[in-house]
Amino acid sequence: MKIILGGVRGTSCIAHSDWMAYGGETTSILIEGDAGERVLLDAGTGIRRLGRRIDAGAACPELLLLVTHYHLDHVMGLPPLPLLYRGGAKLIVGSVRRNGLSAREILPRLMAQPFWPVRMEDMAASFEFLDLPAEAAVRPHRFGTLEIRWCPVCHPGGCTAYRIDAPATGASLVFATDFEWGRSSAAEKEMLLRLCREPGPPGALVLDGQYTRRQYPEFAGWGHSAWEDDVEIARAAGAGLLVVTHHGPQNHDRLLATIEAELTREMPGARLGRDGMEIAL
Ligand SMILES: [Zn+2]
Ligand SMILES: [Zn+2]
Repeated sequence: MKIILGGVRGTSCIAHSDWMAYGGETTSILIEGDAGERVLLDAGTGIRRLGRRIDAGAACPELLLLVTHYHLDHVMGLPPLPLLYRGGAKLIVGSVRRNGLSAREILPRLMAQPFWPVRMEDMAASFEFLDLPAEAAVRPHRFGTLEIRWCPVCHPGGCTAYRIDAPATGASLVFATDFEWGRSSAAEKEMLLRLCREPGPPGALVLDGQYTRRQYPEFAGWGHSAWEDDVEIARAAGAGLLVVTHHGPQNHDRLLATIEAELTREMPGARLGRDGMEIAL
C-alpha cells in the first residue's frame, strides 16, 4: 500500500513563497492498494497533483473517493479535476450524510451554477454513491482487497475519520483530519482510539495538527487539534508512523520547521506532512 499526500494545508490553499516548503494545497490523499485499488480521501486542491498521477496510470480508472466532510477546503478541488471531463472514469463517492443530505444530493449543488459552469450530470465521468452510516463501522466496507472502517469525530457540522487496511500485507492507515481533541467527549476519544487500535495498531496515522498547544486557545471551538494532541493519540494507539497534517494557514515554513523539530524531539520518526509526500507501507 502506498500513500501520497496531495495537499496538507488546512482551511484555505495558499500560493506564497514562504509557504511552499510544506505546501499550500488543501487536503487530498491517494491510497494505492497492491492490487491496483485507488482510494482518494477528500478532494481539496491537492487532488490536482493526485489526478495527474492517476491520469498517468490505467486508461479507465475506477476510484473510490471517501469524503470526511464537505467544508470547502476538502471538496474545492473536485469541480476542476480533469478526470471528470474524460469518458471512462468512474468515481464512487462514499460519505456519511451531512445536514441530512447524501453525497448524491450535495455534490450536484457544488457542481452547478452559480458555483461552477458545468453541471455534474453533464460531466463525462460516471458517478456512484455510497451512503455510509454515521456511527462507527461495525463491519468494514470492502473495496478490492482493502477494508475500510470509519467513525465520527468532533468537528463543527460533523466529520468522519477513516481507516484503510490491506489484510494481505498487514499495511494500515488511519486518517483523521478536522477533529478537535481538546473538545472531544470521552466517548468520541474512545471511538477514535478504537479505530486506531482495531484490528491492530496502524502502520501510519495521519492526523489534524492545525495548531500548537500555544496557539490552540485562540482557536478553541474551531474544530482542530494541536500537534501535541496527535503525539498523545499516536502513543496511545501504538502507531508505526505519525504524520501531522492540515497545517494552519497562519503557519509559514519557518514556523512549521520549528514545530517539526519539536515534534521529532517528542516522537522521533514523526513528521509533518508535505505536499507530494509518499509513504510506502
Ligand atoms: Zn479542513
Ligand atoms: Zn472542516
